[in-house]
Amino acid sequence: MPDDIPQSLARILARIETAARRAGRDPAAVTLVAVSKTHPAEAVAAALAAGQAVFGENRVQEAAQKFPPLRERHPSLRLHIIGGLQTNKARDAVRLADVIESLDRPKLAQAIAEAMAKENHRPELMIQVNIGDEPQKSGISRAEAPGFLRACREEWGLPVTGLMCIPPAEGDPRPHFAALAAMAKEHGLAKLSMGMSGDFETAIEEGATLIRVGSAIFGARPYPAGA
Ligand SMILES: *Cc1c(COP(=O)(O)O)cnc(C)c1O
Repeated sequence: MPDDIPQSLARILARIETAARRAGRDPAAVTLVAVSKTHPAEAVAAALAAGQAVFGENRVQEAAQKFPPLRERHPSLRLHIIGGLQTNKARDAVRLADVIESLDRPKLAQAIAEAMAKENHRPELMIQVNIGDEPQKSGISRAEAPGFLRACREEWGLPVTGLMCIPPAEGDPRPHFAALAAMAKEHGLAKLSMGMSGDFETAIEEGATLIRVGSAIFGARPYPAGA
């Protein structure tokens, strides 16, 4: 585990502040989600000790192992599930998470609605949009997103508060961030999760309210985590 987690966090927070001010935005309107996937609970504990409260994990099983003990000691901790979610993991995700950012298809919406009723817990939800319309990438297509959002709200009564995206790895992410921001605005969604270690300043300029930063805080991942 890198022992410079507090310094890395401080550097990221300073960069968030600079990017927000440059864009004429309030830095407090941007929440840093520290993506701790593949890193041990000790790394999360080090970030918590440095004042970081919001974390992101992309695998439910890994989150289930790391987070419940940490929560007991840190009641203010907030966990976001940010990775592709299988329907058979929906119940665990609903039990564990404060926010699920990766809602991307009707079957999952249905499973989450059922899990919420059983668990009597309603984490906030964000719809993941495949903003570059890339084959093989998770996220609902741009064309299907409005209808899916309507169904989430009307058919399943789900608490959808925003949109999330991972832009294509190649090329300029800015137009994709701008497109996601426009879609959120059009549908009255206040939250926008976009921007990672390599592009979060651009995302902030385009209106991100949540940025998901992993390697710039915790260092390189010890093994690939998928996405
Ligand atoms: C891993 C991951 C991140 C963080 O990526 P970094 O490049 O390490 O900052 C953000 N979002 C999702 C969905 C991820 O899976």
